[in-house]
Amino acid sequence: MKRGITRREREVTDMDEIIGILDRARIVHVGMIDGNMPYVVPMNYGYTMEDGKLTLYLHGATAGRKLDIIRVNPNVFIEIDTDVVPFDGPSACQHGTCYSSIMGEGVAELIEDIEGKKQALTYLMKTQTGKDFEFSDKMVTGVTGIKITVSDYTAKKRPMPKR
Ligand SMILES: Cc1cc2nc3c(=O)[nH]c(=O)nc-3n(C[C@H](O)[C@H](O)[C@H](O)COP(=O)(O)OP(=O)(O)OC[C@H]3O[C@@H](n4cnc5c(N)ncnc54)[C@H](O)[C@@H]3O)c2cc1C
Repeated sequence: MKRGITRREREVTDMDEIIGILDRARIVHVGMIDGNMPYVVPMNYGYTMEDGKLTLYLHGATAGRKLDIIRVNPNVFIEIDTDVVPFDGPSACQHGTCYSSIMGEGVAELIEDIEGKKQALTYLMKTQTGKDFEFSDKMVTGVTGIKITVSDYTAKKRPMPKR
C-alpha cells in the first residue's frame, strides 16, 4: 500500500534528482518474505526508468536462499541510499546523517533465458560502470538474472543542516 513520506519537506519528486540517486548508489537492499520472516540481501543493480516507471536488474548465482524465496513469493521491498554524510553539533540532538534514498514495493521475476540475462547484465554494467559491455552465451551460463518491477516508490533527501 502506498503511504506518503511523513517528513514531506524531505521528499524528492524531481526525476533528475531521483535518477541521480540511482546513478550514485549502485547498491540495493532487497527485502523479501521468507515464510513469516523478513530476509534482506544487498546487491548491485542496473536500472531503467521509463515514463517514471522504475525497473531494477540484478544478477547472481543460479542457487541460493533469495532465489528459493522469490520462487515462492515474488513480492519484494527495495531500499537504495547514497550521499551518506554524518554531521555533528554541540549537543547529542544536533548529530545526524545526511542521505538521499529511494524505497519502494515491487515484484521480482527470475530471468533464466540467455537473451534476457544478457540484457539484464548490460543494464547492470551500464549503471555500475557507465560503460557498454557485450556478453557471450558462455558468460551468462552460470548466472541468474532478477528483474524487479517497482510499482510504487518514493525518494527522500536529508540535506546538511544550516548552522
Ligand atoms: C555491497 C554488496 C553487493 C553485493 N552484490 C551482489 C550482487 O550483485 N549479486 C549477488 O548475487 N550477490 C551480491 N552480494 C552478496 C549478497 O548479499 C548475497 O550474499 C548473495 O547474493 C547470496 O544470497 P543468497 O540469498 O543466495 O545467500 P545464501 O548463501 O543462500 O544464504 C544463506 C545464508 O547465508 C547468509 N548470508 C547470505 N548472504 C550474506 C551476506 N551478504 N552477508 C552475511 N551473511 C549472508 C544468510 O544468513 C543466509 O540466510 C553483495 C553483497 C554486498 C555486501
